[in-house]
Amino acid sequence: MFNLDQLTRENIKKLTPYSSARDEFSGEAKVFLDANENSLGSPLLKWYNRYPDPHQQLIKQKLSTIKGILPEHIFLGNGSDECIDILFRCFCEPGKDNVIICPPTYGMYEVSAHINDVEIRKAPLLPDFQLDLVHLENLMDANTKLIWLCSPNNPTGNSLNRVDIEMVLNNFNGIVVIDEAYINFARQKSFVQELKEYPNLVVLQTLSKAWGLAGLRLGMAFASQSIIEVMNKVKPPYNINQATQELVLKALEEVGQVNDMIKLLVDMREALAEVFASMPTVETVYPSDANFILVKIADARKVYEFLLTKGIVLRDRSNVQLCENCLRITVGTEQENTQLVDAMQEWYNSHANG
Ligand SMILES: *Cc1c(COP(=O)(O)O)cnc(C)c1O
Repeated sequence: MFNLDQLTRENIKKLTPYSSARDEFSGEAKVFLDANENSLGSPLLKWYNRYPDPHQQLIKQKLSTIKGILPEHIFLGNGSDECIDILFRCFCEPGKDNVIICPPTYGMYEVSAHINDVEIRKAPLLPDFQLDLVHLENLMDANTKLIWLCSPNNPTGNSLNRVDIEMVLNNFNGIVVIDEAYINFARQKSFVQELKEYPNLVVLQTLSKAWGLAGLRLGMAFASQSIIEVMNKVKPPYNINQATQELVLKALEEVGQVNDMIKLLVDMREALAEVFASMPTVETVYPSDANFILVKIADARKVYEFLLTKGIVLRDRSNVQLCENCLRITVGTEQENTQLVDAMQEWYNSHANG
């Protein structure tokens, strides 16, 4: 049985969270002398002298409409990276608990585990980049608090099989985190609508990819109200700054524009995949549900370095297990993709025999 109280660290259960000036008084007033802000203003716009809404209510209301999720089921972080760290701090006792990841996958789960002194257990993906359910199950014990799944996965680009994810959700009494950073580019549908069915589910999304707002830092966690309450206790009170809140609110009005970009990026991804598949030394272009493709190519490291001399940077994943000789290529603009393909042609011309 899933028991959130048992999963939560004792110190967090006992914690009295910081109570900000805005928590203690959030009503209407003419004169705010309760937060030690600079009453004269700022060198920028007038309202930047004030602390931002610690609960980010306007953004949550807007997201609630867009995602079809109640605001009580939404947590906002300074990027998904903060959501990841906070999940460790809420549920994993340093030096005692463990979590499971399925590499090759996003690097922050492991880094964040190490920062929090939490043991990492690894159930590598199978050669088709799907979950190894037997290995996963064998790694679980009474101290396993979190299982990290990334779908679509980074750096492989594929979505995990839905039935496999459901199997994990149904057979694990800890929390299953599904990182859906790339969900907007996927053929698969999100798990956010399954929160009622799975009390142990946390879905992570971000504005950094499809929404094009990596610079503003806004990550989202969707979960049961009780999980969200634990996360809210632990977060710094003002983790989403005023400028980000304003700009995000404005951006969230432009769903149509974002959907157009997603369509275009997916079309360009497919075109780029096709061109790479036809290149002589490309062994595999892995199918992608994200805004990048993973390509297995002879002499990956040398290709990477050659492209650098042309001013083009890819992500070299050739030393990553199961990604030997692989480069990860983010879909660029039409012009950037053409530059990349032209540079690859130049590479082949100068390596005519191999
Ligand atoms: C890019 C990415 C993120 C985004 O993190 P932010 O901190 O929100 O920018 C999260 N998870 C995965 C798998 C990613 O690739």
